[in-house]
Formats: sequence, structure tokens, C-alpha cells
Amino acid sequence: MTTVFSTFKFSPTTITSISPLNPITPHHHHHHHSPLHFSRKHSLPFTLKKTTISCSHPQQTPSNFTPTPTPSPRYHPNYIPNRISDPNYVRISDTTLRDGEQSLGASLTSKEKLDVARQLAKLGVDIIEAGFPAASNGDFEAVKTIAKEVGNAIDVNRYVPVICGLSRCIEKDIRKAWEAIKYAKRPRIQTFIATSAIHMEFKLRKTKEQVIEIARSMVSFARSLGCDDVQFAPEDAGSTVPTEFGKLISDIKANTPGIENVIISTHCHDDLGLSTANTVSGACAGARQLEVTINGIGERAGNASLEEVVMILKCHEGDVLGGLYTGIITRHIYMTSKMVEEYTGLHVQPHKAIVGPNAFVHESGIHQVLSLVISVTAPYLL
Ligand SMILES: [Zn+2]
Repeated sequence: MTTVFSTFKFSPTTITSISPLNPITPHHHHHHHSPLHFSRKHSLPFTLKKTTISCSHPQQTPSNFTPTPTPSPRYHPNYIPNRISDPNYVRISDTTLRDGEQSLGASLTSKEKLDVARQLAKLGVDIIEAGFPAASNGDFEAVKTIAKEVGNAIDVNRYVPVICGLSRCIEKDIRKAWEAIKYAKRPRIQTFIATSAIHMEFKLRKTKEQVIEIARSMVSFARSLGCDDVQFAPEDAGSTVPTEFGKLISDIKANTPGIENVIISTHCHDDLGLSTANTVSGACAGARQLEVTINGIGERAGNASLEEVVMILKCHEGDVLGGLYTGIITRHIYMTSKMVEEYTGLHVQPHKAIVGPNAFVHESGIHQVLSLVISVTAPYLL
């Protein structure tokens, strides 16, 4: 049986993630050249016009439905690392540049990473997990550049994404991560350690108590460097289904002292095809940060996809999801998807939800089953 997620553990840190982060994996150094012909030399090689991804409910969509104007950009609540002023607001943490980039054959140049980070900021993601600075000099420099450029580009609404660097629970990794991200207006360190019984015993050769102590001290170390936004991720692997995953999060919220000062995050892989469902279930149960990637790229079967999770929340904000919403500006989803597809060489399957070519095939684009309306007013394949 295969691995997906998730156990969890809490530390006295500001942010806690439920995850299994992937262990450090070698990067793949070969590049792919996509048969699509975007120029890789230009930062925005797209000429797509007026593509909108919007959402509506079946009862509001007669057969002569005409596309509605693009909704205005969402409001991002003021950023405080471990608190969100609006209880219905769900943060989107995009890990395309870290977990996605680690997927087989997806390696990006520094310039491409910077382009993607800029596009993610345009999309309105709350957190950009930009890379793993201790992994290589290239990673370090890429994260540092993103922190300097994208991490300081505050827009008219005072929005600027958090720039997050990943590190193992090791001082030199954490220091390296800080050196790379500290230039950002909102720097964050995410540090992880193995927490499954087998890994603790055979990989780390430590007891549970020792592992908890390492996590505690490394979070403190990260904070001592001047980073007041620290995410701790217990690395684990397991498999679950949406009801069980939601219950896990409800139980954490119900039974963990101090949980009101912690933001719970989901990090789901798609080994059983449940990453989106589990992620949404996690949000319904109280997780307020969702870790996702564009097109669902990522290690093994990939991660929960940003476009699916965000559109589900958007389409059901007013009904079963009770008002949960994100700050994603959905009209930029499609362009972002195309950019990531092109740069990584990882093609989107034709029938992929939301961004797959076939999802746009019908003229009116009304997908009753998903209660989605996707309208395209320009050719989508360039
Ligand atoms: Zn992962």
C-alpha cells in the first residue's frame, strides 16, 4: 500500500503543518523541451487573451449562459504569521517551486523559477515555497533572488507573498534557509523532521522524545536568527480518505492545548487520487493553510492541485463549504498553468480538471457535474 500523508505533531511554534514532506531527494539535472513553443527567453511569453475561469451554480446557468465579467481581485487579510483575522479565510501555500520542482524531470532554471514566482504573486498566493536553500548553491541563489524580487514587490493592496525556504531540522540548513529568505518582506522558514515510528527508529535512530526535543530546539533556533514566521512539518507517510483526514484535523483542534495560536496546514499527495478531496476536507475541518502546486505537479503522483482546490472553494463558498474562501485571483490560473507546463515540460493531461484542454472544449463550458462554468473567449492552445 502506498504512502500519502499524514500524521502530525505540534510544537510551540507559530505554524504547524500536517504533512509528509518528501525526504530530500536528488534534483534532476536534465532539461525538457516542450513541444509547445513558448519562448523561454521572455518572462511572459503568453499571448492568451481574455481567458476567464469563473464559477457558477447549475441553477443559475441557463443554456444561453453568457460569460460574466472577471470578478475583482480578492482581499487578502493582513498577514500575521500565526493568526488570520477572518475565520473563513484559507491561505494558499504554493509549493510548485519546491515539491513540484522535485518531481521527476521538472527542473527549472533560476530565471524560470523567478518567472513562476512572479506569476504566483500575480495569482495572489499567500505563501510561495520557493525552494530548499541548503540543497545546492543553485537552489540557494534562486530562493534568494525570489526573496529579493518577488518578496518585496508590494502591490497597491499591500499584498506581498510570504517567501518560504525549506530546511531539515539541522542548524546549518536553517541558517542557510534564513540567509536566502531574509531579504523578503515576509520571510518564513519551514523545517521538517521524520516523525513516523519506523523513520525515527531506523533513519534518525532517535526516540520520539528526542525527536520532539530536536524539533522544539530547531524551531527556537530559527526564531533566534530573527525569523518570526516558522512552520514546522512532521515528515510522515500514510494513507487516508477525506472523512478520516477531516476527523484528524478536527481532533487536533479539539484536543491540542494552544491550538488557537497555530495555523494547521495540509500537504497531500495524490498517490490514491485523493489529494484534492483530502485537502478540501482538511479545510472544512479547520485547516487554514493548504499546500498545493500548479497542475498538481510534485513527487510520485504529485500534490493536490492549486486550481482544483481553489475552484472547489470558490464554487461552493456560498453553500456546503460555509463561506471558506481564498485570495486567489482565479482569472490568472490558466496562464499560470500554461507557464508551469511549458517550463517544467510536464504536460497537463487532456482531461485534467480545470486546466486540461478538454475541460475547455465545450462552447459554453458548463460542467454540471462540477458545478463549474469555465468560459474561454480565445483559443486556449497557443
Ligand atoms: Zn510533498
